[in-house]
Amino acid sequence: MAGQHFLVTGGAGFVGSNLVDTLLKSGHRVTVLDDLSVGKMRNIAHHLANPSFRFIKGSVLDVPLVERLMSGVDAVYHLAAVVGVKYVVDDPLRGMLVNVNGTENILKAALKYQRKVLVTSSSEVFGRPVNVPLSENDATVLGPTSVPRWSYAVSKLLDEHLAFAYNKQQQLPTVVVRYFNAYGPRLDPLGYGSVIAKFITQALSGKPLTVHGDGSQTRSFTFVGDTVRGTMAAMDTPEAEGLAFNIGNRRECTINQLAGWVRDAFDGAVEIEHIPYEQAYGKNFEDTKRRCPDISRAREVLGFEAQVPLEDGLRRTILWFKEHRDELIPA
Ligand code: UDP
Repeated sequence: MAGQHFLVTGGAGFVGSNLVDTLLKSGHRVTVLDDLSVGKMRNIAHHLANPSFRFIKGSVLDVPLVERLMSGVDAVYHLAAVVGVKYVVDDPLRGMLVNVNGTENILKAALKYQRKVLVTSSSEVFGRPVNVPLSENDATVLGPTSVPRWSYAVSKLLDEHLAFAYNKQQQLPTVVVRYFNAYGPRLDPLGYGSVIAKFITQALSGKPLTVHGDGSQTRSFTFVGDTVRGTMAAMDTPEAEGLAFNIGNRRECTINQLAGWVRDAFDGAVEIEHIPYEQAYGKNFEDTKRRCPDISRAREVLGFEAQVPLEDGLRRTILWFKEHRDELIPA
């Protein structure tokens, strides 16, 4: 469906700006709402002269602004959130307020103007994995409230519940996507604290790659181009309404393996060191041991399957980091 006008909240962020690129390329118009707390102007600056693109610096917590923007678009991709475990651990209060109140503001305004909303959630909501691969209907098992990490999962679960309640009780078209460790160009080494951005930056600075714990924990890293395709498919598929979808790559790898591949990409010229979790996150931290998506639902309903192999995606990401080295790594 070409020629729609989308509001993309968080559109200056890593996934958001990659989504904006593809939406514009597909012939849509885009309004980005971003407060630039994590997002970067440099991620969207190349669109500023495009008449199909508009950037509004502002927050999803600003209700009149959200309502005004909502009235002028056809549908909303809601990505604005405090993302990344490190951010949330550092400031759980802000994480919860932005993630929950921001989403409610979007849904309320969408209801007023009858606009479809795609809410972005996270594989973090699975918490301590029970069955791997993780299916959307699997139970969520979270740790105690004394561990701040889990507040992120709780805030995203509440976002999902809100999206579903607006769908069931108010007949608002909503859909939820759960991202699995997206990576690729524009990953922010300071922002989201992603391990891939961290390792590449460390390698480029000649520092050792810091593997937390024993490195046996796993993740399923998903190239951002795949994340964007899955997201757009969820928005465009009417049968997807009222459902959550795992958007991820099925290939699971350990953090030790990842460190080894990054080291190989730098011709072995970097060290790998293991550091305790406490040193990275302070006391009271609990890691997720395994994470790998079951994507049966996304395949059946959205026709989605990740296509970019990790080797290829890592190569493209490292290349991008090398090209942007001066902006990313302070001298
Ligand atoms: N990690 C690591 N070294 C780093 C940063 C992260 O070993 O410098 C680990 C982290 O402890 C976790 C995994 O990599 O086990 C993924 O962390 P990330 O913050 O990228 O994402 P999330 O935990 O949200 O999946």
